[in-house]
Amino acid sequence: MKVMAQMSMVMNLDKCIGCHTCSVTCKQAWTNRTGTEYVWFNNVETRPGLGYPRTYQDQSTWQGGWVRTKRGKLKLRAGGRFRKLATIFSNPKMPSIHDYYEPWTYEYDMLLSAPQGEHTPVARPKSLLTGDDMNIEWSANWDDDLGGSTETMQDDPILQHMSEHVAEELEQTFMFYLPRICEHCLNPACVASCPSGAMYKRAEDGIVLVDQDQCRGWRMCVTGCPYKKVYFNHKTGKAEKCTMCYPRIEVGLPTVCSETCVGRLRYLGLVLYDADKVSEAAAVENEHDLLESQRSVFLDPNDPAVVEAARAEGIPDDWIEAAQASPIWSLIQKYRVALPLHPEYRTMPMVWYIPPLSPVVDVVGTSGNDAEDPRTLFAAISKLRIPLEYLAGLFTAGDTVPVERTLRRLAAMRSYMRDINLGKEPDESIAEAVG
Ligand code: SF4
Ligand code: SF4
Repeated sequence: MKVMAQMSMVMNLDKCIGCHTCSVTCKQAWTNRTGTEYVWFNNVETRPGLGYPRTYQDQSTWQGGWVRTKRGKLKLRAGGRFRKLATIFSNPKMPSIHDYYEPWTYEYDMLLSAPQGEHTPVARPKSLLTGDDMNIEWSANWDDDLGGSTETMQDDPILQHMSEHVAEELEQTFMFYLPRICEHCLNPACVASCPSGAMYKRAEDGIVLVDQDQCRGWRMCVTGCPYKKVYFNHKTGKAEKCTMCYPRIEVGLPTVCSETCVGRLRYLGLVLYDADKVSEAAAVENEHDLLESQRSVFLDPNDPAVVEAARAEGIPDDWIEAAQASPIWSLIQKYRVALPLHPEYRTMPMVWYIPPLSPVVDVVGTSGNDAEDPRTLFAAISKLRIPLEYLAGLFTAGDTVPVERTLRRLAAMRSYMRDINLGKEPDESIAEAVG
């Protein structure tokens, strides 16, 4: 066992209201510079939706890339004139500026100086890149509130893989928000694909960074990252990415996105993991085993054998105590309510998510509150507004069983805590009903 420490995050999606405060405060702190206008180290995606950059989840392109075989496995396929590069650098997809969005601004002076006209004025946005008036046809969160109900929305690759199209009737639409930062992966494709050795993963806390002096602007990290979380600065000609606010972390402060999150949904902390297990866990053949194999690398920070092994690796005592105090291990491994985003990308992402426990569409408990009686919810779990299949496409490589199990636990916990908060005796038998 080789114990290492990793900064990680768990986000509780039930609490995200899509206010974008995290994105804006991150941008103010890190990317409010020329060359990074289009860059959002933290973005909040509309789900269903095409994401940011657009269609990043579609891992296959005409140039080749990851394709799903008939037996459901992901396989690398090279193609087109980039055949060789595609083979070497896994996902060859290089988003264009239009896949992110062309940044724009308005002529704010016009608010005061525009002459009175016959019609209500409509501000035309101006491209920040060219200065021209723009006709905007797509942008991040363009799909807000459509809930999969239009043809454009059906381009969401997860919706496409679902056996039923959910949004034929407006009553069947659903939406939620998915905040995303770099995953600071245990097996980072960006680091593996950098020909200059500029991308690196810090040994002490696992934060993945770009050495700006070493970067030669090859952009293999942009194509190599399946989450598309490395960005090219067009002014400096170098790659940039989320730093997990390491200058703040080093002095004991949380990341900007965690500190400013309005929903208080981001749990940030250290976890201990077994570095000897990482390659094996990432390479598990059956995709439905990926969740458990990725969970299996995390170590119980309260286990004396783990503490001893961590000390032997030189991990300081106060770091071990920080891992013991952090809720990350418990949410992922003990309570098993957190799931990784796209484990099938096999980079071992270190930002995990508690899936949203959406309301049941046509079954309401006696009081009208969700999960008032969790057994009602258990019986109707296939009628949740957000289909299990959609969540499984995001978090468990398509396997609905662990998603259902997670939602049952969340429903039981909600009911249990409601009883306690109301001063009632909680129903201990709920735990058995979770299954
Ligand atoms: Fe690298 Fe992408 Fe993983 Fe971040 S999410 S560590 S950029 S591979
Ligand atoms: Fe969601 Fe928090 Fe970001 Fe608001 S600040 S969009 S609640 S993650």
